[in-house]
Amino acid sequence: MLARKELFPHVIELNFQAGQFFGCNAYLVFDGAYWALIDIGYEDTVEEMLEIIRQCDFPFANCVALIATHGDVDHVQGMARLKSVLKKPLLAHPLSAEILQSGDPYASLAQIPAKGVDLAMPAVEVDRTIDEGDVIEVGSLNLEVWHTPGHTPGSVSMKMNDILFCGDLVYRDGCVGAIDAQHGSDIEAFLSSLTRVLESDVTWLAPAHGPPFAKNDEQLRATIARVEGYRHLADFGACAVAWPLMDAWEREIADGIGPRSSPFNPEP
Ligand SMILES: [Zn+2]
Repeated sequence: MLARKELFPHVIELNFQAGQFFGCNAYLVFDGAYWALIDIGYEDTVEEMLEIIRQCDFPFANCVALIATHGDVDHVQGMARLKSVLKKPLLAHPLSAEILQSGDPYASLAQIPAKGVDLAMPAVEVDRTIDEGDVIEVGSLNLEVWHTPGHTPGSVSMKMNDILFCGDLVYRDGCVGAIDAQHGSDIEAFLSSLTRVLESDVTWLAPAHGPPFAKNDEQLRATIARVEGYRHLADFGACAVAWPLMDAWEREIADGIGPRSSPFNPEP
């Protein structure tokens, strides 16, 4: 039997618990006899993670929910195997459920041909969809569901008192989850989700990658300002909302301003 290493009261995280890096964070929330798991990571580490759960004396029969923060392969590839062992309900946002149930290799980022990424994405049935305002009960604990799109359209966070399990929303170094048009990232939605966290009474953020950390308003404001800038940068391709240079170019075309007469090139 293992002593439980509680990160917060009623919360362990399986990588930290094992003292070993498996992959994406998998938070186990428990109260009394009951427990729920948030994300699981890759399929090939599921058995080891189940063994940690067993050794921490969480009977499999007392699991009340398996929760997917979103449909990315590095968070949910192991869900099908996990469910086949535990036979417990899988919960996800409807937009993530589509990815999980179809095993969509592109929306899940299981296949990124240009990067040579070619992973399996086993399809898995979602038993209950969760959305903004829903509550997942674990014993007497309430996990309030926040719909926090931005990284993906179906990203959810779970708020338990002053802790927010925030998936790939924001990390301790101020980075945000990957912004990628292919899996539906949306910069405006990202800004709304980040601002919501900033304005909330959340004290602790428990992301899906890297360590849990104290909400730092100054850092979060800097992150929001940085992401705001992305809206008008061509660097972000289809995720940018506008590109001011194109407006300038249109004006210069209309006015017949060539490079030698442009105020941008005073003395080449
Ligand atoms: Zn992700």
